[in-house]
Amino acid sequence: MVIYVHIPFCIRKCYYCDFLSGTYNEEKKSAYVISLLNEIEYYGKKYGKSGRDERINSVFFGGGTPSVLDGDVLCEILLKIKKEFSLEHTAEITVECNPGTVDRDKLSKYKEAGVNRLSIGLQSADDKELERIGRIHSYKQFLDAYNMARQLGFENINIDLMSALPGQTMESYKDTIKKILQLKPEHISAYSLILEEGTCLYDTVNRQLEQGVDTGLPDEDTEREMYYLTGRMLKEAGYNRYEISNYAKSGYECRHNTAYWRREDYIGMGIGAASCVDDVRTKNIDNIDKYIEIFDNIEGVRKNGALDNDETNHLTREDKMAEFMFLGLRMTEGISKVEFLKCFECDYDTIYGGVTKRLIEQRLLKENEKSQQISLTELGLDVSNSVMSEFLL
Ligand code: SF4
Repeated sequence: MVIYVHIPFCIRKCYYCDFLSGTYNEEKKSAYVISLLNEIEYYGKKYGKSGRDERINSVFFGGGTPSVLDGDVLCEILLKIKKEFSLEHTAEITVECNPGTVDRDKLSKYKEAGVNRLSIGLQSADDKELERIGRIHSYKQFLDAYNMARQLGFENINIDLMSALPGQTMESYKDTIKKILQLKPEHISAYSLILEEGTCLYDTVNRQLEQGVDTGLPDEDTEREMYYLTGRMLKEAGYNRYEISNYAKSGYECRHNTAYWRREDYIGMGIGAASCVDDVRTKNIDNIDKYIEIFDNIEGVRKNGALDNDETNHLTREDKMAEFMFLGLRMTEGISKVEFLKCFECDYDTIYGGVTKRLIEQRLLKENEKSQQISLTELGLDVSNSVMSEFLL
């Protein structure tokens, strides 16, 4: 089982961001943390030491920007999790950091409390590009944070990158990748910018289009070239692409995300966080004030829970089979027919034989006859969403 903790605070909203995050005052942050500690206790009684005592092999602080919190506060949350749950001694404990929000003191505290993986959001090594998407940090600030983390002994660091940014060119993107590779992080996540409705960037681009002004966004062909360049350069540098957008040195694949893709049980705490245990998927309410109110005291939690009742979903056998496919196919190793049989007591080919045969003929899927693994081809990876939609039952 893995645990996700949502910290919805940011210094300022990035222009492209549609995550559940915002800028809040100190009072709200403190109230949120109290409620979060109560929620940890609540789940601890169900699945932790005083309940089912599940083994936890990953804790992931995501957001928002978890590193916005004072170092002591984040460590207090982690210590509470350790108190309530049985963490495996090799558990991966990740904190997402924004380079504009960390210093030596904060990182040392993380280290001391047992954080063993950092995920640093850089996005681009070009300050102008960072500015255009509303990031609060410069490349220099990122470098300082990265070097500091290395000096303090963090041996597992992810760097987030983005392509197809306004004003980004093939040259500047190549330069960003080169700079990152020189730093030798253990893991790189690389995504293309997606313009999400309701974001500041979405509105700006639409206004520019209406006025006939150049948006500065790379055209579709350049965007594709950037995507291929990522794969080529990272492969040459010894990174294994183990998922559509994730690359790692051998043995450094993110355990947390891999658990999601393998359909292991997970608990999510904090606003908007999703959980899936015993094939029942739930989601916490999105509203921070309601969340604080409900979890304000542990008795309140026992009575009410913090679930969004519209979002409790008992997965049917068909849902589970479809999920097995489209989550499993995100990973380049793909899915195992043997595992499918074990999970569903039913032969893979009876359910998906037809569609698999067709997609293999279209060179979108491949099958390793010996290991009985089905996975996406290079071509399939390019159009993964449409391939995966074929597996809905
Ligand atoms: S730091 Fe992350 S979560 Fe916060 S606004 Fe920027 S992209 Fe969104």
